Amino acid sequence: MNKYEKIKKYCFEANMELPRLKLVLFTFGNVSVVDREQQVFAIKPSGVPYDQLNADDMVICDFDANVINGTMRPSSDTKTHAVLYKHWEKIGAIVHTHSTYATAWAQSQRDIPIFGTTHADYNTVDIPCTPPMSDEMIKGDYEYETGFQILNCMAEKKLSYEEVEMLLVGNHAPFTWGKNALKAVHNAAVLEQVAKMAWLTEQINPNAPRLKQSLIQKHYERKHGPDSYYGQ
Ligand SMILES: [Zn+2]
Repeated sequence: MNKYEKIKKYCFEANMELPRLKLVLFTFGNVSVVDREQQVFAIKPSGVPYDQLNADDMVICDFDANVINGTMRPSSDTKTHAVLYKHWEKIGAIVHTHSTYATAWAQSQRDIPIFGTTHADYNTVDIPCTPPMSDEMIKGDYEYETGFQILNCMAEKKLSYEEVEMLLVGNHAPFTWGKNALKAVHNAAVLEQVAKMAWLTEQINPNAPRLKQSLIQKHYERKHGPDSYYGQ
């Protein structure tokens, strides 16, 4: 068995979840899955429609985005994924989509306010949106800089990547991650739903208040406290 066969299959299956969950259109979006032991990740090839994808088409890259194995060109977002794997040692998978509602918030350059408990079950803070990329970064290595745009935003807001597993790249679209592909894809779907709910909330009441602190705290403790019972 090829030493990359398992990770390619896992990555392929995770990518196929995106159209199934209606998070992508045409060839938009990509999932990558890391193998920390071999110091590589598998990622979707560039420009291949989902219904024509095969596990064997997945491209294996190192953490500097060099292609290690595969006959196709890796996703154009590969450098962004590589930067995140290099800096965040505990993530196992990354998902990028242009899902409609989350992307609309990204285009509006707004954090998604924490309006309710659905949001609080995943994050006890607003979902961060990065500022637009600087002209200097745009002129540089664009996809590589997108990785730093994500790292910088998380650092500036003092957020832990193990705590907050979703973010909006301003003017662009969402990235989510997780310990494994299942969690990263799950986060992409949850983010889209939370983004939709937040938008509707502001339509119904433009002055809707953020979730009150006692409820945020309650949900935080449910997830993290000594008596945590969330997820049962
Ligand atoms: Zn994109």
